[in-house]
This record gives sequence, C-alpha cells and structure tokens, in this order.
Amino acid sequence: MSILNEEDSKRYLEFFGKNFEISKTMEEMSELIQALCKYQINQGNADNIIEEIADVLLMISQLSYIFGNDLVKEKIKVKLARLEERIHNEKIRSQRYRESKFYQIEDVIESLTSSSEYHKKVIMYEDIETLREKIKTILGE
Ligand SMILES: [Mg+2]
Repeated sequence: MSILNEEDSKRYLEFFGKNFEISKTMEEMSELIQALCKYQINQGNADNIIEEIADVLLMISQLSYIFGNDLVKEKIKVKLARLEERIHNEKIRSQRYRESKFYQIEDVIESLTSSSEYHKKVIMYEDIETLREKIKTILGE
C-alpha cells in the first residue's frame, strides 16, 4: 500500500507507536462500517463515507508499512490472480449452463416439430403450451 511514502510512514510510526496505530486503524475501520451501515439504511451520505475511506486507507497504509509492504504486495498479487481465476471459471460455468439449456430446449422443439408432417408446418396451441411448460421446467422456473 503506497498511499504514504516510507519516510512519512516511518516518521508517523516513531511518533505514534505501533500499538496506537493498530488501535487507530480499528477505530477508523469501525467508523467506516458505521458510515456504510447508515448509508445502506438511507441515513448517511457519501461525503461521510469518503472521509472514512480516506481515514482507513491512511491507517491501512501505516499497517502495511508496519507488517511489511512487500509481503502485503505479494499477498495482493496472489489474491488478484485467484479473483481472476474465479471470474474465468464462473464465465466458463455459466457458458456451459447456457449451452446445456439451449440444447435441452432444442431437443424439445425437435421432438415437437418432428412428431408429424403437420407439426413441421404448424405447431398447435397445445404444443406451444407443452413447449412453454417444458422450457419452464428446463429453466427451473
Ligand atoms: Mg474517521
């Protein structure tokens, strides 16, 4: 986290001390949580959230300095890679789901339209209702 440069982080840490900065971080995070809770029930405003985000980012930057910026950066890389992998897998999963539903619906249409020469030309009202019900079943509605 590079909101603060190392020189400033070092100076603040020497002035306030590790324990105070940890406590201050918890305090600022709880203020952000409160601001977000109020916002969700329409009793807060964006300005308050922005202020608390700034407080939290500054304190998180200090914590990162205290516990090791390089270690935090390494963890961020790992977590971002994992996030990208999840997004990729979810895209594949939903694509396969859509394809499987598509093929099931195609099968229903095929079974209705190929049952007789007549159905190849006109799908009767009852068949459309049957089709609608089967599609609902396939889609899980
Ligand atoms: Mg605050």
